[in-house]
Amino acid sequence: MISLATARALDAADPLRSYRDLFATATAGDAGGSTEGGTGTDPFGTVYLDGNSLGRPTTASIENVHRFLTEEWGSRLIRGWDERWMALPEVIGDRMGQVALGAAPGQTIVGDSTTVLLYKLIRAALRARPDRDEVVIDADSFPTDRFVLQGIAAECGVTLRLVHTDAAAGVVPETLADVLGPRTALVVLSQVAYRSGFLADAPAITDIVHRAGALMLWDVCHSAGVVPTELDAWGVDIAVGCTYKYLNGGPGSPAFAYVRADLQTELEQPIWGWMGAADVFAMAPDYAPARGMRRYLSGTPPISAMIAMQHTLELIADAGMGPIREKSVALTEFVIELADTTLARHGVRVSSPRNAERRGSHVTLSHRSFRAVTAALWRRNVIPDFRSPDGLRVGLAPLSTSFEEAFRGMAAIDDELDAAAHRNDGAAPSGTEVSGAS
Ligand SMILES: *Cc1c(COP(=O)(O)O)cnc(C)c1O
Repeated sequence: MISLATARALDAADPLRSYRDLFATATAGDAGGSTEGGTGTDPFGTVYLDGNSLGRPTTASIENVHRFLTEEWGSRLIRGWDERWMALPEVIGDRMGQVALGAAPGQTIVGDSTTVLLYKLIRAALRARPDRDEVVIDADSFPTDRFVLQGIAAECGVTLRLVHTDAAAGVVPETLADVLGPRTALVVLSQVAYRSGFLADAPAITDIVHRAGALMLWDVCHSAGVVPTELDAWGVDIAVGCTYKYLNGGPGSPAFAYVRADLQTELEQPIWGWMGAADVFAMAPDYAPARGMRRYLSGTPPISAMIAMQHTLELIADAGMGPIREKSVALTEFVIELADTTLARHGVRVSSPRNAERRGSHVTLSHRSFRAVTAALWRRNVIPDFRSPDGLRVGLAPLSTSFEEAFRGMAAIDDELDAAAHRNDGAAPSGTEVSGAS
């Protein structure tokens, strides 16, 4: 049986344990809600199990943002653009490509939100395959990915082909093979499914998509910085991902786009703006796209929102994606074992893949009381999130989550399930969904 002592022993043996100390501590008193019946006096502070939705800040990144505001914006004023800011989308993009994406320089840029980059790159891909009129997407993919595609379908007259999968699983090469054909222009899939945590076999899928003559776009929102990704080696065409999850860029930090070097002249995005033009200050009468990744910019990039992620990239470079993945797997295995040994008696099911090779860094548990349980957990500073209809996601960020934190979170879930059973009202009351963006 796993005890608090087991969790502490795992922390003591964890080669990445010291990274946790670099994160700003969220104390229990910081919670917005009431701490009634909770851990208000518990020195452990907030149990944060939602780093897959919004990563925690490091102390250094808070200082870096402050220094940016005072020393760069405050002192350099407009000169900052020439001195550093103009190059930052590519500088950070290249570093991200190097440490987290397996991408050689010149293929990654930090720019708009994930949603906007999806729009721009899907349009660019369709334009590059004018003789094909179908786009394939997973029916259970993140809403914004589907909505953007629905909008493009309505705008451009392409047909969406939805791949249906078992909710606990995800898209596998065999299911995909059935929908690919000579009409497929593009396939859009998430490397890690936001709901189940299913980790797709990206190299195998990219390969079959290419054999069908289509382009492959990977959404790496839930994998960037936590699951090793080798975009160059896998021959991926396009990738998009966000930076406020495992990259700790902060709420609304801009997303990044990857376009394989040899596709950049062919893939032309539809939002022509001065920042993506060949000569930004030529003030030319007509648009001509910049060479390389700058052509995927449109307007002025959100520089102040790009600062925080830089420190995480250095931590990833220092820790290494291999050890990060090992700890992520160990944490998810630990949570699944706790679910099986302590929560199964309440009827909780594990909805994430049990095979670690097919699992990202969060574990989704299912129970009909989880909407109410999640609300009760937030009131006691234990923060997982809830996804309709009955999923509680336990997000495990290897650089900031300890085994003790995961243990305490699982014990609190057990408590709240007991309380829900005693109220004899296992049915979820209606209410708003708990959780921010994800
Ligand atoms: C988090 C997430 C997004 C977020 O898109 P925004 O434009 O940043 O709101 C999109 N897609 C997936 C798969 C995500 O996990």
